[in-house]
Amino acid sequence: MITLTGKKVSEGIAIGKLSFYKRDIKEIRHIYVKDVEKEISRLQKAKERALFELQELYGISIREVGKANAAIFEQQQAILDTDALWNRITGIILEDKLNAEYAVKTATEEYLKSERDKGNESDIRDVAVRMIRILSRNWKDKLFMDEPFILAAGDLYPSEAVQLDKERVLGFVTKYGTINSHTAIIARTKGIPSVIGLGESLKSEYEGKTIIIDGFEGRIYIEPDYTLLTKMKQRQDENQVHITNLERLKGKENITQSGQKIDICANIGTREDIERVIRSDAGGIGLFRSEFLFMENGNRQPTEEQQFQAYKLAAESMGMNRVVIRTADLGGDKKASFLEFGNEPNPAMGLRGIRISLEKEEMFKTQLRAILRAAIYGNVQVMFPMITTVEEVVQAKEYLEKVKQELKAEKVFFDENIKVGVMIETPAAVMLSGELAREVDFFSIGTNDLTQFTLGMDRNNELIMNHYDTHHPALLKMIRIVANNVHLEGKSISICGDLAADLTMTEYFIQMGIDELSVAPDQVLALRKKIREIQ
Ligand code: PEP
Ligand code: MG
Repeated sequence: MITLTGKKVSEGIAIGKLSFYKRDIKEIRHIYVKDVEKEISRLQKAKERALFELQELYGISIREVGKANAAIFEQQQAILDTDALWNRITGIILEDKLNAEYAVKTATEEYLKSERDKGNESDIRDVAVRMIRILSRNWKDKLFMDEPFILAAGDLYPSEAVQLDKERVLGFVTKYGTINSHTAIIARTKGIPSVIGLGESLKSEYEGKTIIIDGFEGRIYIEPDYTLLTKMKQRQDENQVHITNLERLKGKENITQSGQKIDICANIGTREDIERVIRSDAGGIGLFRSEFLFMENGNRQPTEEQQFQAYKLAAESMGMNRVVIRTADLGGDKKASFLEFGNEPNPAMGLRGIRISLEKEEMFKTQLRAILRAAIYGNVQVMFPMITTVEEVVQAKEYLEKVKQELKAEKVFFDENIKVGVMIETPAAVMLSGELAREVDFFSIGTNDLTQFTLGMDRNNELIMNHYDTHHPALLKMIRIVANNVHLEGKSISICGDLAADLTMTEYFIQMGIDELSVAPDQVLALRKKIREIQ
């Protein structure tokens, strides 16, 4: 038995025979052409065909892996329209009088060597291979064996990964590739167990041998012994039962036996989580903890453009489903190194959330600009954290108005009618929930902070965990008060703190008329299962 370790890309166990992907890389000969105009027209037709195929792949991908990932194939279409690349291809045909296949291959290699678009190398090669395949007509890649198998490759292009038939490709392993590549993202979204970056130790002599992919650990075993095989089969079965039970609920309604409905959304912190939301089948993003963008960015505040790109991706990925972006809830245990907090004796009760935003005008306005601009790409809503007074909300809304006027003056597109919400995380906000509801369109209860401030107990202090009662009657009473007040104003309410995923509370929240529960992406289906079991 041989064990190889690579990078884990997509969880799960796969057991099967290994088959190397044979791209039919015929030698591309360089042939002189007499009629260069005819060759250009052949190239042009191949381009049209490639654009058509990529458009088809875009359609398939939206269904298979969601709109954000499908965008890869829009980008690939744009590659064919890159002047530097296209002019070089046609130049080789017109000036050197060489055939189109050779021109595509050579121009692509030159283009990649010129350091441009290095990050897109795999996509550029993918497009070139497609063009050459179309030009060489009877070229056929060997991708499939007769029985289900584990696919091995040097690298796998995104367009190949998206077309992998899950029924036949049990998993895949590669020599190269990175965990954030489009191929890796697609594998995760499709739920195909895979390990990449195994290097040259993944040898072609393993063709046809039985292997195990352990996607949880990022390891593969070639010709495993009987004991390991039995253990892994059992792990695979357990995992499968768990997944299929939950997977069956995808596309189903969040409805109780008696017909009561509630929305389930997902909470995210980074752009990478968006893909997990798509896989989870959540009805949107109920809480985008935008402060993580600020904490991840080293010593610098994220620019408007960086934020805009992250919010736009979330908006586009969710289509018509809502995406609630919470403005940076920095402070407390979420410090960003570019902000000076001094020596706060009690940071949880210190300079945090909306208090920082209202002090740091430039930072706040930059974030609001990015949110407003991204909002035209989907159903984006903005939410303010750590509210304790009505004045804070009025002030935050004034900033929002100011930013709208500035964008208007600059003739920049944005969503004029963006919905505004607040987090209910302090007893003060609970007591003022009637007044606050008149100022905003929705509430979201942050039970994590609301519990710590109601009980006067630090949510991160291990010493008091025995006293930290997340079902404390005072907390439940508060949630009920907030729900009543917001509904009296005809506005909606969600719960996005950890209590939303507590399945012992689900029935209670539904009875209370909570409109939405927002939980971590991998808790979505378990919550749906619970809701559907309630009488
Ligand atoms: C909360 O307080 O419940 C909440 C959702 O916000 P965070 O956990 O990010 O403080
Ligand atoms: Mg909070």
